[in-house]
Amino acid sequence: KGERLRLPPWLKTEIPIGKNYNKLKNTLRDLNLHTLMGDTCTRGCRFCSIKTARKPPPLDAEEPYNTAKAIAAWGLDYVVLTSVDRDDIPDGGAEHFAKTVSYIKERNPKILVECLTPDFRGDLAAVEKIALSGLDVYAHNVETVRDLQRHVRDPRANFDQSLSVLRHVKKVKSGVLTKTSLMLGLGETDAQIHAALKDFRESGVDCLTLGQYMQPTKRNLKVEEYVTPEKFAYWEKVGQEMGFVYTASGPLVRTSYRAGEFFLKNLLE
Ligand code: SF4
Repeated sequence: KGERLRLPPWLKTEIPIGKNYNKLKNTLRDLNLHTLMGDTCTRGCRFCSIKTARKPPPLDAEEPYNTAKAIAAWGLDYVVLTSVDRDDIPDGGAEHFAKTVSYIKERNPKILVECLTPDFRGDLAAVEKIALSGLDVYAHNVETVRDLQRHVRDPRANFDQSLSVLRHVKKVKSGVLTKTSLMLGLGETDAQIHAALKDFRESGVDCLTLGQYMQPTKRNLKVEEYVTPEKFAYWEKVGQEMGFVYTASGPLVRTSYRAGEFFLKNLLE
């Protein structure tokens, strides 16, 4: 406790923190990442620096249509839609998400769509709406091991609720690929990571990404450990051996990881 850990050499290159806005915007565009439902979240996870409010501005009803139009104009072949959590809306924004997917697919049935979604407080009807929207990859992040959930995520989130979301997707549409992610370096043990991976497989999770937690602002959780590239490589091997269709594990691996997209694209085509 107390002192902040020094940044290890393997993280001293190209970390997109503190770069100017345009550069970030371009990066997001390169990643084909689109954020829905505004810039204000109703939750306050301790690892995340997003703006929060109990009642953010209402949804933009035109957003699904406009997003689909923009994506079609850019000629992308893989797109990731993500959002803040909107606990203030009865369905958490599931309908809004689903509409966006179906408009995108209407314009270009060949485009691959990944949705990185909230837990919808475990509302399986909301989950189902998105699972059946025509998307290809349903991503929902469990974020950390079971024992650190309360420490890291908003109290409305938890491990089993997130697992039930992922399980339900496979139940209603087994052809959709499910994907989750853990941040490492929050103080978790190897045994806890192993247990989490096992739970993911038992819930039918297809794809796994593991990356280093980076503290976004001074007010967020401190990094407890910088996990070495060798250790990340070890987890990638473990993931492969456990039967995930795809595992990406590395210090700079983010949820929406370029290499992952290429892999999934080949797999789905
Ligand atoms: Fe950030 Fe997502 Fe947590 Fe909201 S729910 S605070 S966007 S991590």
